Amino acid sequence: MFGHPRVRYQRGYRMPRMRDMKPPQFDYVAPASVPEAVAVLAERGPHSRVLAGGQSLLIELRYRTARPALVVDVNRIPGLSDITVDDGSVHVGALVRHAQLERARFDDPLAGLFRQVAPYVAHPPVRARGTFAGSLAWAHPASEWCALAMALDAGIELDGPSGPRRVPAASWFRGPFATACLPEELVTGVRLPRPPAGAVAAFAEHRRTHGSFALAAALVMLRVSEGRVDWVRVGLANAADVPLRAVEAERLITGEPPQPDLLAQAAARAAAEADPPDEPHAPAAYRRHALATLVRRCLTRAVETAGAP
Ligand SMILES: Cc1cc2nc3c(=O)[nH]c(=O)nc-3n(C[C@H](O)[C@H](O)[C@H](O)COP(=O)(O)OP(=O)(O)OC[C@H]3O[C@@H](n4cnc5c(N)ncnc54)[C@H](O)[C@@H]3O)c2cc1C
Repeated sequence: MFGHPRVRYQRGYRMPRMRDMKPPQFDYVAPASVPEAVAVLAERGPHSRVLAGGQSLLIELRYRTARPALVVDVNRIPGLSDITVDDGSVHVGALVRHAQLERARFDDPLAGLFRQVAPYVAHPPVRARGTFAGSLAWAHPASEWCALAMALDAGIELDGPSGPRRVPAASWFRGPFATACLPEELVTGVRLPRPPAGAVAAFAEHRRTHGSFALAAALVMLRVSEGRVDWVRVGLANAADVPLRAVEAERLITGEPPQPDLLAQAAARAAAEADPPDEPHAPAAYRRHALATLVRRCLTRAVETAGAP
């Protein structure tokens, strides 16, 4: 059964049945524009929660780990459901669903990465409602999208009483379920710098059952030019309290021919950069081993896709 990750592994905890759980009472408002939503949040921010796809918030409400006085449903705000591509970046609106990214067909290597990752996020009914931006706002350490945002230097765009601002992923994630978003702010979208032309992607995940959260996951984007890796990004999920970019592993490969020995060394380096949680069903050492295996698998697959020796 799906359990809320904040409580599910406490010793002696007996999971209540989800159907027995009822949310506490709350007021509900569905603003029709971003300025309207921002005005409501400015007034009642600390006592309110934004509702996007609801795939995490509704569970929080039923387990009563969230008790907002007001739920601000942003689903009726037009213009937040688009993926747009310009010269330098791909912009994912705050209401773009996981399922849209599973079908991404825009002309950029990022579309290939989205298509590889999306099928690992929950299962189809959740993917039909849940949003990319909501995943970043919820900040589960095992979130595939959070790892992708971290690896690719995404900028999270916010609007609030002090006006719009953009927070780099590196300063966004503050811990499990904690971000730089203020209670009065709304995430309006996520901007991802476009990888260089010719970059290829690979993703791999280890999980207990289909549809469950990752025990560990890795993603790689890289480009091979004239026999050497000239650009690479490595992202890790459930490798620490926050999503990680394995910069030491990236440094080891950049500028080098992608030989199998080097890829194995880089994978071991990435696992050493991780600080995975120690849980009864998946001890830290087991997770670190899984991360090294997943990173090596992704690097090898990406290099093969790039057509390098
Ligand atoms: C059975 C199941 C399996 C799942 N498996 C996975 C998995 O394998 N990998 C994974 O990554 N996720 C998984 N999820 C979570 C799912 O991906 C959620 O869709 C996602 O975490 C949150 O997106 P949402 O749009 O549903 O946000 P909501 O549930 O609406 O909101 C989540 C939190 O983010 C805040 N928030 C949302 N949007 C905004 C915004 N625009 N501005 C400010 N705050 C905002 C909300 O206030 C709330 O605190 C699973 C969920 C379920 C139910």
